[in-house]
Amino acid sequence: MSGGDGLHPDTLTVGAGYDAHAHHGAVKPPMFLTSTFVYPTAQHAKDVHEVYFGARPARPDEASGYIYSRLDHPNMTMLEQRLAVLDGAAEAAVFNSGMAAISTMMQSILRPGQVILHSRPLYGGTDALVHTQLSHFGIRPVGIGDALDPASVRAAAGEAMATGTVGLVMIETPANPTGGISDIALAAEVAAEIGRAQGHRPPVVVDNTFLGPFQQNPLRHGADLCVTSLTKYAGGHSDLLGGGISGDVAMIGRLKQLRTLLGTHLNPHDCWMLLRSLETMHLRTERAGRNATAIAAFLRDHPKVASVTYLGFIANDGGPGAAAFARQCRGAGSTFSFRIRGGEAAAFRMLDRLQVIRMAVSLGGTETLICHSATTTHFAVPRERREAMGVDDSTLRISVGVEHEADLIADLDRAMEAV
Ligand SMILES: *Cc1c(COP(=O)(O)O)cnc(C)c1O
Repeated sequence: MSGGDGLHPDTLTVGAGYDAHAHHGAVKPPMFLTSTFVYPTAQHAKDVHEVYFGARPARPDEASGYIYSRLDHPNMTMLEQRLAVLDGAAEAAVFNSGMAAISTMMQSILRPGQVILHSRPLYGGTDALVHTQLSHFGIRPVGIGDALDPASVRAAAGEAMATGTVGLVMIETPANPTGGISDIALAAEVAAEIGRAQGHRPPVVVDNTFLGPFQQNPLRHGADLCVTSLTKYAGGHSDLLGGGISGDVAMIGRLKQLRTLLGTHLNPHDCWMLLRSLETMHLRTERAGRNATAIAAFLRDHPKVASVTYLGFIANDGGPGAAAFARQCRGAGSTFSFRIRGGEAAAFRMLDRLQVIRMAVSLGGTETLICHSATTTHFAVPRERREAMGVDDSTLRISVGVEHEADLIADLDRAMEAV
């Protein structure tokens, strides 16, 4: 099985991208730990280069050829085919981290002096990239006040166009760490309006890391590219880094050309690990999601917790977030944040008492992780900007894993006594 029409994603993820008969019948893919590839003849070498560099299309009977592993290698091809199928895309490209994917994408799409119109908050790494390195190229960010409100998105678009040519619309939904949700179709609609006004439609890129392909498919709602940090739920075991981008043939082709020049490709070992991890992603997503629902409810009812921002609550609150959730999400994920009464000191006392839940940054693994956002993931964000994005001294972010929910709740309950 290599692609597959009409099958469910749960089925496709087990086999898409791998043909056992092309590999001695091995039921699972071999790992190609090689930096370069041998040609049988000089003419074959020339043929492979002609096709790779686009001098001519491959002939129907022509076997695909590899050149050098920074350009492409078999495990990367397999992973990209599987990811594309899950994201509902024609093609995908994988990178050595989520930030490698995002930085390669931004360098491919943006030109000096252009403006990025973006949802708020953005992942810390993306935020820092936009505010530091890209600013050296005269690229300026304009944040959207409320990405669920058409008037607010259009006002930000107006401000962005007054600043320069809008080169990119970057949406992160749900956002890290607040779990705030943006309306993807609305962003696509406004991008089309910007295109009519300035004569160049900026591509809409959605960071889908928090939900992943089993709970949200941004390309179906008008996004041009879907970005995922594969380090998180796709890898799922906190043992690798990777990033993926799905989209149409032309845009992904340009990303791959730049990836070759920047060297941001993903290595064979981690491609192989990810091929394996994707096979159980739907099971992990489902179980962690159920645990998260139970833990969010426990925290909401706890007297020492001031608030819980969990997408599963937003989904049922009857507001504009609920409407967007109903249109574009099939689950609430399992990473969310909550605020504890008593600020940093109380939060630290609680964290230091936990025995089952581990204290670490990152998310999406089988194990439950918790961190104090202001002093870890958002350490480098100035207080004013951090608080404006909803992260104060009492904010904790939890990534719920696949353990037994009763053990996780008992651990939190015991630790709360220290608050
Ligand atoms: C972690 C993360 C990234 C960056 O991914 P890395 O694999 O750590 O480089 C990007 N976006 C979001 C939403 C993330 O959570």
